[in-house]
Amino acid sequence: MTDLPVRAAEGGPLSLEEMAALIALEEEKACQQLYQAAYAVKSRYVGRQVYLRGLIEYANICARNCLYCGIRRDNRKIRRFTLSLEEILQAAGLAHLYGYGSVVLQGGERSDAGAVDFIEEAVGRIHGQYPDLGITLSCGEQDISVYRRWKAAGAARYLLRIETSSRELFYRIHPAENDFDARLQALKDLRTAGYQVGSGVMIGLPGQTALDLARDVMFFRDMDLDMIGMGPWIPQHDAPLADETPETPEKAARRFQLGLNMIAVVRLVLKDVNIAAATALQALRPADGRELGLLAGANVIMPNVGDVVHREDYQLYDGKPDLDENAENIRQALNDSVARIGESIATFVPGTPRHYLERTENRPSLSEL
Ligand code: SF4
Repeated sequence: MTDLPVRAAEGGPLSLEEMAALIALEEEKACQQLYQAAYAVKSRYVGRQVYLRGLIEYANICARNCLYCGIRRDNRKIRRFTLSLEEILQAAGLAHLYGYGSVVLQGGERSDAGAVDFIEEAVGRIHGQYPDLGITLSCGEQDISVYRRWKAAGAARYLLRIETSSRELFYRIHPAENDFDARLQALKDLRTAGYQVGSGVMIGLPGQTALDLARDVMFFRDMDLDMIGMGPWIPQHDAPLADETPETPEKAARRFQLGLNMIAVVRLVLKDVNIAAATALQALRPADGRELGLLAGANVIMPNVGDVVHREDYQLYDGKPDLDENAENIRQALNDSVARIGESIATFVPGTPRHYLERTENRPSLSEL
């Protein structure tokens, strides 16, 4: 076991069982060895610069009812909102001002014509006003014609989390109306439509095993993804998915550790993809959660640049951080915390995943990323 991370860092392949063994690690010294090996791979393949994605949570209205989510359709306890086009543009302007290379427009899933037109208009206006700002969408499953329209308007990347690659687990955390195969097809459609494609999973779900998570890593590899966004599952008090036993600090700490282990194994196996240090890491360890994610192999952070007014209404899970911090404070804090771990923030660059550039045969040098 002890030489597994080193062997993987040197390019040796890992079997499914070996990945599962690394993901399941608990002993601190062994975990540190895993993170160091993953960090060496990260440094070699994608460098030690952190890319920022300014997150704009533009709406919390959702047609879906995922069992773990705080903004699910049936949650009547939250106020629903949609930012105006002007508010979205203002947030994009802030991201541009702070040197973020790109923004992420994230909202509940809606496929009605009004919502599709609205996103197209928002993307077009951001792209028109800030042509050098990369635009990522996270707007759920859509028809490929919609993906194409949004791409033509100026979007370059799309995040669509599978949440788990286990079909059985998928149906335990989603209502029957969600279709695992439709989600798979949507990921393929995004690729066909020419996006840089990202997906990810929740880590530490009730009933999920280390082998399930290892299969998730295989899934990422087989789908040839460019970006991975995954984080520990955090129970949401208004959502039906709950653990059979009460939440404890020990359980949360274990999910945090699993989150870091997954980042490290994904980095060891996929090497040149972009991996986000998810906000859920920060929620579980406010002081240094995201930084530990970077040290385990992540290279992207997605700070919120939306207006603080609506942030309480966008609580996908409990304890979401930065609910009352404005974008400027978050940016300054990030500068400081990233510098503390010996990395730097890449400003005014889109941070295109090296994997995407490689697979489209546009091979970059590290300074071009
Ligand atoms: S996870 Fe996404 S699609 Fe599911 S209810 Fe929440 S916002 Fe909607």
